[in-house]
Amino acid sequence: MSELYDLVIVGAGPAGLSAALTASYFHLKHIVLESIKPGGALSHNYPSKIVDSYLGFRGMKGKEVANKMIDHVKAEGSEIKYPEEVIEIKRNKEKKTFTLTTNKGKYQTKSILLCTGTIGTPRKLGIEGEEKAHYVLCDPEEFKNKKCLVVGGGDSAVEAAVMLNKVCDTVFLAHRRDQLRAINKNQEELKKSNVKILWNTELKCIADRKVKVWNNKTGETKELDVDEVFIFIGSIPKLDFIKNLGIKMEGNHIIVNSSMQTSLQGVYAAGDITGKLKRIPEAIGEGHLAVYSIYKYLRNPYWT
Ligand code: NAP
Repeated sequence: MSELYDLVIVGAGPAGLSAALTASYFHLKHIVLESIKPGGALSHNYPSKIVDSYLGFRGMKGKEVANKMIDHVKAEGSEIKYPEEVIEIKRNKEKKTFTLTTNKGKYQTKSILLCTGTIGTPRKLGIEGEEKAHYVLCDPEEFKNKKCLVVGGGDSAVEAAVMLNKVCDTVFLAHRRDQLRAINKNQEELKKSNVKILWNTELKCIADRKVKVWNNKTGETKELDVDEVFIFIGSIPKLDFIKNLGIKMEGNHIIVNSSMQTSLQGVYAAGDITGKLKRIPEAIGEGHLAVYSIYKYLRNPYWT
């Protein structure tokens, strides 16, 4: 507790790792606290998915991209503590420093960068038998030759369906509308696959090796034989300690200005939690920009 950091970075996904690298270059005394494991969604949600969206990284799996980023950041001198969950952040009386309380200790810092992402808790459908469903797809090989149903129309659902399609017997994708939210490249991959798309379809219950689906246009209900169900309908981020800090938010996202500064002096945010594109290149850019702004705030260099 005696050490005073220039910067505590909360979250070690692409935004937090990019921020840590920049903090090393600027010689800011910093630490990264991560509640699960470093790498964010790359390690947690898509370890086996090929991630091609970040310039210079092609044909590599999520966990390989994450490991490269983590190794790079560590080699430049950043410390990443995990699993260590931030429970509370308090602005100290003289208002120039903050105390972060985690499940393992306390940290004093002059500034904070929130890169907590939006992984949180997977959103649920609230249907019978839902406890049988999966909410992450770590290794598609586990489901080789099975019949699977994926629910959702965003990138997570479409990517999971395409990955499963490579090893499974049959893959259904059930989406509640007649158009997808997923990015064009993923829609293209889906078109090229054998995934059977069930448009305007809602999952109503999961039983052993059977599900009931309902078409919200025709009103027709039918049963499908499937072995496994995957639900990818977004997630609800953990926001308690952020909300208690009293910074301005819009829904589940932190409002930042063009310097990544929140409504509270000394507190910045970057990556998915700011609610912009939610893509790796954006998160990396935001993490870098945020630390650049923090450096200016803390050191007031002659060139600003
Ligand atoms: P998402 O983009 O929020 O999509 C959630 C999907 O689930 C939507 O299609 C939504 O339907 C559907 N949905 C939500 N609530 C539902 C309910 N109660 N019943 C049935 N369907 C429901 O979530 P995501 O796919 O997890 O992606 C989260 C963010 O990460 C997005 O910004 C995404 O682009 C990004 N992401 C990026 C990549 C990548 O860059 N390769 C990969 C994965 C995720 P409606 O469309 O009808 O609302």
